[in-house]
Amino acid sequence: MEIRIPENVSKIIDTLNSRGFEAYAVGGCIRDSLMGIVPHDWDICTSALPDEVLDTLGRHNIIESGLKHGTVTVSVDGELFEITTFRTDGKYLDNRHPENVKFVRSLREDLQRRDFTMNSIACHHIKGIIDEFGGCEDIENGIIRCVGDPEKRFGEDALRILRALRFASRLGFRIEENTGKAVHKLCGTLRNISAERIASEFTQILMGKYVVDVLLEYSDVIDVIIPEIYDMIGCVQNNPHHIYDVWEHTVRVVGYVPQDRILRLAAFFHDIAKPFCRTTDERGIDHFHGHPLLSAKMTRAILNRLRFDKKTISQVCLLVEFHDYRPPTDAKPVRKLLSKMGAENYPELLELKRADCRAQNPELLEGKLVYIDTLEEICKKETEGGRKFRVSDLAVNGRDLMEIGISEGKKIGKTLEYLLSGMINEEIENDFDSMIKAARNFNNITDREETNGV
Ligand code: ATP
Ligand code: MG
Repeated sequence: MEIRIPENVSKIIDTLNSRGFEAYAVGGCIRDSLMGIVPHDWDICTSALPDEVLDTLGRHNIIESGLKHGTVTVSVDGELFEITTFRTDGKYLDNRHPENVKFVRSLREDLQRRDFTMNSIACHHIKGIIDEFGGCEDIENGIIRCVGDPEKRFGEDALRILRALRFASRLGFRIEENTGKAVHKLCGTLRNISAERIASEFTQILMGKYVVDVLLEYSDVIDVIIPEIYDMIGCVQNNPHHIYDVWEHTVRVVGYVPQDRILRLAAFFHDIAKPFCRTTDERGIDHFHGHPLLSAKMTRAILNRLRFDKKTISQVCLLVEFHDYRPPTDAKPVRKLLSKMGAENYPELLELKRADCRAQNPELLEGKLVYIDTLEEICKKETEGGRKFRVSDLAVNGRDLMEIGISEGKKIGKTLEYLLSGMINEEIENDFDSMIKAARNFNNITDREETNGV
């Protein structure tokens, strides 16, 4: 396939060439173009030293970020391009950071330090493709292969192990045999990689279209970064609803939910506590009582450890906690669920539930999907006009309750909860007078109970 280098990129390359420097587009943008994918950015590599890049392109419109590693960011028509000086990496100290980087004048050396053959292809708008390590052929055959000796390359930088899984999950490529062996052999070195890096790569692995095969084949790698999965692997579920062990079921749920970050994470963690909740009844059937709540708890601890942001953590944990709720298909119990979990979250919850069922016994699937469709209809109807069933949707608030003499914060909270459940169950009309009347009644009763208790 021919590569169409954008004009702004060829302009930068021409400018550098006019001063006698070599320059090429390189890396992910060439890989993606060869696959017919529109690249999300274009990186340039050059024989010019960072200072020479600055002199050649003019210092205005330049961001001197990453200069130490030889990277200069230039802005052209509002678009940012990274220009990196040809370099080789010095000795690696800790499975991640090279002691130093050495700038070099040869393209080949620069291509050689890159992780995979498919990422080591350069392209010039006039000279064409420069492919020193067989990257084009590997792309054609869908193969992820280290440049050079895989064990050495993963030993230098363990993050490359996760990058290999990420590309496999995203592109559906097969990891070449020796590269794959080295992944298994050296994945323990991932313990030296920072939590933030692991979180970012792990999320991208989950987001891939081909995630199922990757997780099944490389569970040992995932086990290094999230050891809590260890007990899921081989944890049988002797129960008519299930046909897979907890790990394989989980992986398939991940594959079935849409490629959404929160949903993929929730799917990954939804059953993580199952091995710790397993009981077997007298008929030999396994049960997992309490697993959603414990899974949510474990998920929170893991995501905190991996330094996920608070919003992500709470969204994921919410879905995990509620994934197994099966309210009767009536308005009242559904409203109760909507109120408990936040009505705005029901579409994601139903997606997770559908995927969960798809990864169970296929003979029982039809009925389960019908149930979820019914649940969806009720949710839609109940949330019409933005109804949310929150305390803040009540016709009265804490201040109104204070006005009628309820002063203690705890009592106000309890009363509001009572009014909300009255509204959900259609026992109290949600207008000011009815709510105040109910609040008075509720507190008189409570007051008397308290007096009796003394
Ligand atoms: P993406 O589409 O996800 O951005 P990419 O291949 O562009 O994929 P980047 O992280 O943007 O990935 O890196 C740009 C290029 O730098 C890669 O294509 C690869 O040549 C090289 N590279 C990045 N990280 C490493 C690494 N850890 N080890 C060796 N080479 C790397
Ligand atoms: Mg990139």
